[in-house]
Amino acid sequence: MVDEGALAILTAAGSGTRLGRDLPKALVDLAGFPLVVHAARRLAASGVVDSLVVTCPAGLDSAVRDVVAQDPHVDVPVRVVEGGGTRQASVAAGLALAGPDDDVVLVHDAARPLAPPRLVRRVVDAVRAGHGAVVPGLPVTDTVKRVAPASAGGGPDVERVVETPDRAVLRAVQTPQGFDRALLQRAHAQGAGRATAEGSAATDDAGLVEALGEPAYVVTGEEAAMKITTERDLQVAALLLEEKS
Ligand code: C5P
Repeated sequence: MVDEGALAILTAAGSGTRLGRDLPKALVDLAGFPLVVHAARRLAASGVVDSLVVTCPAGLDSAVRDVVAQDPHVDVPVRVVEGGGTRQASVAAGLALAGPDDDVVLVHDAARPLAPPRLVRRVVDAVRAGHGAVVPGLPVTDTVKRVAPASAGGGPDVERVVETPDRAVLRAVQTPQGFDRALLQRAHAQGAGRATAEGSAATDDAGLVEALGEPAYVVTGEEAAMKITTERDLQVAALLLEEKS
């Protein structure tokens, strides 16, 4: 693969209702800056991202553009696009802006504001080494059970266990996920049809590539790439930042 350019799609269009704030999650403050700014800074600091497309909630394009594009540490071109009703639709809206010079496309959640620059480089390096779909992942420390859907026995309080997968071969995956652009475009084109037909959308992009029958690969993730969902996660992220300073 010829080194051309890497485009990063930063998904920031979610509402983040589980954080219980009036603001969309990406605009929630962490140590003085919105989550989306922390994420954008680390993508830019990797030195391997050439431009950013940020997906934003409806009506918030100028607010998101102001905080991200005007941040002095985000020294790459920034475009902002309104996201969709699901994460998959938001990524598709960002991907529509990818051009022929973007040989690698990264998809990263603003909800993972502290994913370190070295992780971004690790993912891009693996894509450039010929792996078309690359996700960071960490070993799972809890034993994981697969349960039956509520309709097939059990209820909301007591669920029937179907299977206990071998923990040694499980990985909890993170973002940024990295892709050969053409492969990701093909995966999203097929995924859009499926989401419409089945009313379900993918929760990660590598899953869409796997659904094409194409291989996806895991590289070692980072604890700091943790996802912020709850108030407690936000407090853990603040502690991680304090530890570093
Ligand atoms: O809600 P959740 O934490 O799973 O969202 C993961 C990421 O996807 C977040 O960064 C969120 O802003 C983004 N997202 C989006 N468009 C949506 C839903 C989520 O860009 N419709």
